[in-house]
Amino acid sequence: MVMDARETGELELIQRIVKKAGSPDGLLTAIGDDACVIDITDINKAVVTTDMLIENTHFDLKLISPEQLGYKSAAVNISDVAAMGASPKYALLSMGIPSTAKTGFIEDLTNGFINCLNEFGTGLAGGDTTAAEQWVISVTIIGFARNNYLRRSTAQPGDNIFVSGTLGDSAAGLSILRKKLITPSKTIAHQLISAHIKPDPRVDLGLLLSDIATSAIDLSDGLGTDLRHICRASGTGAIIYKEAIPISDSLRSLSETGNIDSIELAVSGGEDYELLFTMPPSAEPPSGLDIKITKIGKITDRLEIVLMTEKGQKQPLGQGYEHFKDQK
Ligand code: ADP
Ligand code: MG
Repeated sequence: MVMDARETGELELIQRIVKKAGSPDGLLTAIGDDACVIDITDINKAVVTTDMLIENTHFDLKLISPEQLGYKSAAVNISDVAAMGASPKYALLSMGIPSTAKTGFIEDLTNGFINCLNEFGTGLAGGDTTAAEQWVISVTIIGFARNNYLRRSTAQPGDNIFVSGTLGDSAAGLSILRKKLITPSKTIAHQLISAHIKPDPRVDLGLLLSDIATSAIDLSDGLGTDLRHICRASGTGAIIYKEAIPISDSLRSLSETGNIDSIELAVSGGEDYELLFTMPPSAEPPSGLDIKITKIGKITDRLEIVLMTEKGQKQPLGQGYEHFKDQK
């Protein structure tokens, strides 16, 4: 018989999560008390972030498996810690679960979550489990930083702008999943879809950048919106060189079929979870990591953000998704 959340019950659900998660180092109380206690003897700075994922706003259970959803819920939060130049250490997982949810589904989801935590050396320190009308997954990550950490508000005019990886793949992957795009090959479809389903938070890069970058942000809402966050916070503008925006071979061949504009997806699509960062002109981006890093523009003191073509034509840089505004 297939059990659902009502039959299994809150206590049993929590016990199964705890069993899978084990007990992380540095916790003075394991899961089960009213709160977790973290040994902070060796910490210089704690970096804490939280994000909420709501069914049908952030994910569609028809398009993602529970294991993948759990993994991604951890990954997108770890990405925020990476963007601050810190290492993720502990996670709290709070879930609103429809009472009809199957127990196996809940377990797959939490297993995916814990698998991602394990990949990034992050321990599960607690959470909350409650019944809800629709799925709500709220994740908090506590990270540790050394003296230097990264902010959005500290870019300087003259800095170069860099981005890791390639942009637009995740948005293309989502369109393929929604059957709004036909792909030239299965391999291409697979690559783009996995960029959407399984983001790879840039923790190692963030840590290296903490000593050399002037500012950073992770690309959750698209280059257009996230660069705007850096510029607004820093009181600067920016120029992005259109030809420099890194587009993957898969996205390039998809755009050659004529149905999509790869630059549009790279600028306005979201969920790439790459790092966008700035560095003084004298600084070289870190090498030695197996991650492509591309210089895509410059911070300016003019309060505008422009996209410049090879021929020197300028246009305003488009924007990505904004909740409330884009829901209308
Ligand atoms: P309280 O009633 O004090 O809020 P709970 O019954 O909600 O306690 O939680 C009991 C313990 O189980 C706590 O230590 C809490 O952190 C942990 N916990 C509850 N839900 C989860 C979850 N989804 N993931 C990890 N730990 C959880
Ligand atoms: Mg509780």
